[in-house]
Amino acid sequence: MIKVFNTLGKKKQILKTIKDKTITMYSCGPTVYDFIHIGNARTFLAFDVIARYLKYRGYKVKHVQNITDVGHLTESELAEDKILKAAEKEKVTPLQIAKKYTEKYYEAMEKLNWNKPDISPKASEHVKDMIKLVEVLLKKDFAYEVDGTVYFDISKFKNYGKLSGNTLEKLEAGGSARIKKEEIAEKKHPHDFALWFKAPKDHAMKWKSPWGMGYPGWHIECSVMSSKYLGQPFDIHGGGKDLIFPHHENEIAQAEAARGKKFVNYWLHSEYLKINGQKMSKSLGNFFTAEEFISKHGAQLTRYFLISKHYQTELNITDAAIAAAKEGFDKLKNTVVAVQHKIVNSPKGVDSRVVKEFEKHRVKFIKEIDNNFNTPGGFAAIFDLAKDLNVYEGKAGTLQAGLDLLLEMTGVLGLVLVEDVKVPKKIKDLVAKREWARSEKKWSEADKLREEIKKLGYGVDDTKEGTIVKKI
Ligand code: AMP
Ligand code: ZN
Repeated sequence: MIKVFNTLGKKKQILKTIKDKTITMYSCGPTVYDFIHIGNARTFLAFDVIARYLKYRGYKVKHVQNITDVGHLTESELAEDKILKAAEKEKVTPLQIAKKYTEKYYEAMEKLNWNKPDISPKASEHVKDMIKLVEVLLKKDFAYEVDGTVYFDISKFKNYGKLSGNTLEKLEAGGSARIKKEEIAEKKHPHDFALWFKAPKDHAMKWKSPWGMGYPGWHIECSVMSSKYLGQPFDIHGGGKDLIFPHHENEIAQAEAARGKKFVNYWLHSEYLKINGQKMSKSLGNFFTAEEFISKHGAQLTRYFLISKHYQTELNITDAAIAAAKEGFDKLKNTVVAVQHKIVNSPKGVDSRVVKEFEKHRVKFIKEIDNNFNTPGGFAAIFDLAKDLNVYEGKAGTLQAGLDLLLEMTGVLGLVLVEDVKVPKKIKDLVAKREWARSEKKWSEADKLREEIKKLGYGVDDTKEGTIVKKI
């Protein structure tokens, strides 16, 4: 029985799916105007772990994640489109910006062993569907047009605020950060939000609409693309907690007002990655890009660091926290190497009583992660098994069963402790050169070669059994 903490209602609830053992899940993806930072990666990995775990528990998971390539406005007074601003800065077209940073996004996330969602729709390719939804909202009188811009009238939607608590009464006049100054005069209520914007004459991304040339508001893409691919209602909607308001509140308003039924059953929000106690963010300038972080710490350690804390608690980047993660992760990797070594040197046979003891750790692992995806509890079970394996001296088959179990559990969380990779010839040659340098006691040359190998994404470990090459 899986339980999840639902932001809607702010309680832990039993996960009941709409259709048997199928999970329909949508998570908000990146705005592709720049490299993602490691905080973004934390959130994307949280939903990767959730999808992987639900599959492990026998669910068929359909995961949709959008690519925002139009409509996300900056938080400054000017509220410019983030993609357009980047295009001006880099002197290329908005499409080129979106393409470049979508590719960079996938590159970084794939290094972190992230499973690409099943469908990754782009906002710019769904503008027609968005226009249709805006038309429905106008027809049903949930929206109004002012000179080519269409606003959602939040006073018409009685459930406004049900996710974030920001009901109409509670919202103060004056507008949120994402509201353009000139809009305020046009609106019936300052927190009415734009479904569709009238495009200024020289605006680079605009579409023909019943209200003239324009472009979509930020929130409409998610109400449209989620239900297009998953239906309405669907099971899980995810994102970082900064999206609760206004983004997700507005997604609910649009979808439920237009279609007259519940939008989403479970809203899951991840907590922030912080640095020096402050939320990591582009606007504060206190960020590492995912690539920077990965090249400094290695991809697997980065993944371990980001997922080993519960996704709904804050994670603070400090040297001590990274060192602790490294210690834990090395312990797991060393266990694998040591157990592999012991297997070769142990007598054949299996002690099924001991294997049964090992399997108790799987029961604990499942019990913990079933409880609102409690990864720290899951890792505790993994470390308990590692401890048992390290002290066990006995039969090879027992060790193998224990090792398989360890790799099963870490694998569910997307960690790669044993690389099943074919090492490219180029790397093999460099490793051979390094071996030669070591045999000649040319240590600085050997170190240089290790660095060169590392730059190509591989690590070398000098163990008692010889040099082990693995992807990092
Ligand atoms: P964006 O591209 O800004 O829409 O952000 C992509 C995702 O990263 C969203 O789900 C955000 O909520 C999430 N996010 C942004 N900053 C952080 C942070 N410091 N820690 C964790 N998640 C974040
Ligand atoms: Zn969204």
